Amino acid sequence: MPGNPQDRVWAAIDLAALERNLGRIRSALPPHVRYVAVVKADAYGHGLYQTVARLMQCHADAFAVANVFEGAEVREVGAGWPILVLGAVLPGEEDHLVNYDLIATVSGEEEVKRFEKAARRAGQALRVHLKIDTGMGRLGVWHSDAEALFKRLEKSKHLVLEGIFTHFSSADSDLDYTRTQRDRLLRFIKKIPVETQRDLLVHADNSAGLESFTKDSPLNAVRVGLLQFGLLPYPTSLLSRLAVEPVLSFSTRVGLTKELPSGTPISYGQTYRLKQRSRIAVLTAGYGDGIPTASSNKAEVLIMGKRCPVLGRITMDQTVVDVTHIEHPVSPGDIATLIGRQGREEITVTEFSEWGNCIPWETFCSLTKRVPRVYQTSRVHT
Ligand SMILES: *Cc1c(COP(=O)(O)O)cnc(C)c1O
Repeated sequence: MPGNPQDRVWAAIDLAALERNLGRIRSALPPHVRYVAVVKADAYGHGLYQTVARLMQCHADAFAVANVFEGAEVREVGAGWPILVLGAVLPGEEDHLVNYDLIATVSGEEEVKRFEKAARRAGQALRVHLKIDTGMGRLGVWHSDAEALFKRLEKSKHLVLEGIFTHFSSADSDLDYTRTQRDRLLRFIKKIPVETQRDLLVHADNSAGLESFTKDSPLNAVRVGLLQFGLLPYPTSLLSRLAVEPVLSFSTRVGLTKELPSGTPISYGQTYRLKQRSRIAVLTAGYGDGIPTASSNKAEVLIMGKRCPVLGRITMDQTVVDVTHIEHPVSPGDIATLIGRQGREEITVTEFSEWGNCIPWETFCSLTKRVPRVYQTSRVHT
C-alpha cells in the first residue's frame, strides 16, 4: 500500500532490461565495434548514476555526455572508462577536462588553442576527438576544411587525437542524405594513413543510424542512446530485428473516484463535457510530473489492465480520467500506468509522446524531479 511520497508517482527503471538491451545490440554488431553508451541528460531521464553503474558492469566500452559536468558525474561512478564530451566546452570549463580525465570534442582552431593552454597549465596531455560536420550544421569542422585541423591536431604537443566522428541529421528519415554524410566522413578518413586510422576511434552512428557495418569499414564505434533504453527510433533499420525492451515505466495512482452527471464540464477551461453519467478517477500526477498538457483530452492511462481516456485539461498535480467502463470498482490507491504495461495492454513511450506532440527523447527528459526513479536491479541470468 502507498505510504511514501514515491508512491504517488514514480518511474520504475528495469536495469536488467537495460543490460539485456546492451547484449542484444552488441550481438548485432561486429565484435570489434566499440559500444559508446550515450548517457547525457541524466541518462535520458533514467538516472545517471544507476544507469552508468550498470552499463559499466556489463562492459560498455565508453560513455558520451553533453558537457563537462555530466562527464565529471560519470567519472565519479568509475575510473578507467573513456568519457567523451559531445557538446561545446565553454571558456573556463577546460580545467574540468583535465581534472576528470574527459575527452573533448574539437570543431575548430579556437578550441585547440584553449585546450592546449589548459593541458600545458596542467602539465598533462588532453585527449580529443575531432568532429566533422558532414551536413548536420551544428558542431564540427566543415568536412572540406577538416584536413588542416586534423594536421594541426596531429602536430599538437599537448593534445592527443583519439577519435574522429560525425553526427547524422536525418538517420531516421532520410537514408540518401545519411549516405551522403557517411560518404563525406569516409572520404576524409581515406586521406589518413591506415596506421594512424587503426589507432583512432571512428564513429558516426547513433541509434537510428546503426546499419552498415562492413568488415572493411573504418567505422569502429557506435554511439547508442535511445536504443539501449528500449526504443527503436527507426523501424526499418537493421536493428529493428532486435527485440529491445523498454527500460522505463511511468506510473501514478488513483486519488479519488466519483460519479458525475451527464454534461458536467471537466477541469480548467471546460474543454470536455461528460456525454453521459460517468465515473471519473482523479490521478495524483499532472504536468508538474511530466505529463504534457498537449496530451489533454488525448492521452490514455491503464487502470485494471484497461485503457482509460484523459478527460479535460491536464493540470499541474492532477489528471482526470474516465473509468465508467471498468466493471471492477476502481479505488483510491489503485495504480494508473502512464507508460508501461498492465496485463495485455501497453502504452509505449512512442504513443505517450505522440499524444503530447513531442519525441520520445523529449518525453524522457520531461519527467520532472518530483518523479522518483525506482530501480529494479536483479542481475540477468543467462
Ligand atoms: C544524443 C546523441 C547521440 C545518441 O543518439 P540516439 O539517437 O539517442 O541514439 C549520438 N551522438 C550525438 C552527437 C548525440 O548528441
